[in-house]
Amino acid sequence: MSESGVVFEAIAEATLFGFDATPSEVRIRPRSRGWRVGGAVGTFVGVVAVASPLVVFPPHAVWLIGGLGTGAFLANRRYIERFTLLSAIGACPKCGHGFSLKNTRLRAPHPLPCEGCHHESTLQLPDGLLQKHALD
Ligand SMILES: [Zn+2]
Repeated sequence: MSESGVVFEAIAEATLFGFDATPSEVRIRPRSRGWRVGGAVGTFVGVVAVASPLVVFPPHAVWLIGGLGTGAFLANRRYIERFTLLSAIGACPKCGHGFSLKNTRLRAPHPLPCEGCHHESTLQLPDGLLQKHALD
């Protein structure tokens, strides 16, 4: 259940309104449905297993609902992780401060917070790149 796709690399762009985009090297790993579902189930079971001993203490319902809610929330985050952004390296379009992201769920659009100027640029992937590499 842990099979996942082949890592691919691309040149994306960091874009910020009003500034010239800068190139950003990205490495991305597509995730299969099996990886996402298996991980989601494992996450849910793990969280509920950790939370369930607390249910013997009052307020019982709060622990129960909290455990189930947290498990569902984290499981869902795993389930929707269709691509993992293994790394993204580039520079802020505004101030040129370098950024380097590692191992995070790729979002669309993916935010690139800058430690230099505290503006947030956006990672712009080439059109059709994800569709080309998407697993089921
Ligand atoms: Zn900046």
